[in-house]
Amino acid sequence: MAETIAPVERVLIVTAHPDDVDFGSAGTVAKWTRTGVEVFYCIATDGDAGGFDPSVPRDAIAGIRREEQTKAAAEVGVTDLTFLGYPDGRLQATLDLRRDISRVIRRVKPDRVVTQSPVRDFKRIYGSHPDHLAVAEATLCAVYPDARNPFTFTELIDEGYEAHAVAELWITGGTEPNHWVDITETIDVKFAALRCHASQHQKPDAMEARVREWNQANARVGGLPEGAYAEMFMIVDTR
Ligand SMILES: [Zn+2]
Repeated sequence: MAETIAPVERVLIVTAHPDDVDFGSAGTVAKWTRTGVEVFYCIATDGDAGGFDPSVPRDAIAGIRREEQTKAAAEVGVTDLTFLGYPDGRLQATLDLRRDISRVIRRVKPDRVVTQSPVRDFKRIYGSHPDHLAVAEATLCAVYPDARNPFTFTELIDEGYEAHAVAELWITGGTEPNHWVDITETIDVKFAALRCHASQHQKPDAMEARVREWNQANARVGGLPEGAYAEMFMIVDTR
């Protein structure tokens, strides 16, 4: 188990799509907010290429998904969400995206940032959506060096956002996980959050069964007791 810094008061989670945070870390978020940690979300796209129902007008999807994510966040005690509004399915780790994530880091001043993995996992290819790789790459660049360097993106200083160094980065899953959070006590809240994304789940019960299996498998890999559920991370020291 990797060492974590302490104390952590503020955590920023950056993901590509509405629902990514709930699949990857909602159980952990619920644990954190229960102990008084402030958690913030930054979501790069509105998930406007998602859904399964052709009768829903495509231009309504972004609004629906923002609303679903806002409800899901409330389930786990998160009320501060930033939607960057990039188009779903076309995300790239551009300088614009790095600047926009740096702006949120400088505003929120988190001790810890959580994001997706920038490395494609050939054993679980569906987790490695190109948007996930892109948001993760841009977030890593924002954590180091962009957000902490007062001489990059100087327009952010002009906007009033001073440089901020994030001490710790958590990657959900990751190629070499080194930390497991036991979410047995919060897995039901995680499911409540996941079910808020109604436009994405044709069969919510099957989704829940799948997530239960994944979180059980994580717990096994992490050496947790039989019957436990866990979310799995790779912690990177970025002090
Ligand atoms: Zn996603």
